[in-house]
Amino acid sequence: MGIARVLQGIEAACARAGRNPAEVRLVAVTKGHPLEEIQERVLQQGVFRLGESRVQEALPKMKALAQASPTPIEWHFIGPLQRNKAKFAVAFDLIHSVDSLRLAEALGSKALEGGKLQPVLIELNLSREPQKHGLLEEELGEALPRIRAIPGLEVRGLMTIAPYTDQPQSVRPVFAQLSRLADRFGLPERSMGMSGDFEVAVEEGATLVRVGTAVFQPD
Ligand SMILES: *Cc1c(COP(=O)(O)O)cnc(C)c1O
Repeated sequence: MGIARVLQGIEAACARAGRNPAEVRLVAVTKGHPLEEIQERVLQQGVFRLGESRVQEALPKMKALAQASPTPIEWHFIGPLQRNKAKFAVAFDLIHSVDSLRLAEALGSKALEGGKLQPVLIELNLSREPQKHGLLEEELGEALPRIRAIPGLEVRGLMTIAPYTDQPQSVRPVFAQLSRLADRFGLPERSMGMSGDFEVAVEEGATLVRVGTAVFQPD
């Protein structure tokens, strides 16, 4: 598909849903891809918002690309996060995957140590798949005020990963549910949609889509 086609897909989905395309930002997921490919397929195409899912893989890339890219890069952490990695995770501009109060506390304390207010999203396991990370929907009401009260953190929104499917229309209810919850709790950001389903996610209110495979596919 390539990044230009992904951006066109986002625009077309916005048009169908009557949304302003400026409300939707593409996070190009670069995990598993080497620097040269990221430069050529993403940065040189004018996208400077990158997502990584492993701290050990991301940190050297962040360092190398900070030197190589004249435009500053916005880094998003999207993968499962262990508390002992909190110190490194606060290097990211947005952490999408806060899935427990204890992780949130660890991030808040490291953010404070670094003199930073760390923007985060809370990950929800809306499809209730046992292998997935994220809070269950019914846990959010109790967890959210506690996480919001942690000094050093700024809760900007919610994130979810829809069940894997080759029928993107079938996961529309999951995205609609994330949007409803974000509305109900007054949270502006909705991180949802990947290569197989980002257009449906945009139609249902995504503000951040995390797309990897489609970006790196040949046109
Ligand atoms: C890898 C990953 C993505 C991107 O998935 P693609 O199907 O390659 O677009 C999005 N979100 C998370 C959390 C991921 O780990």
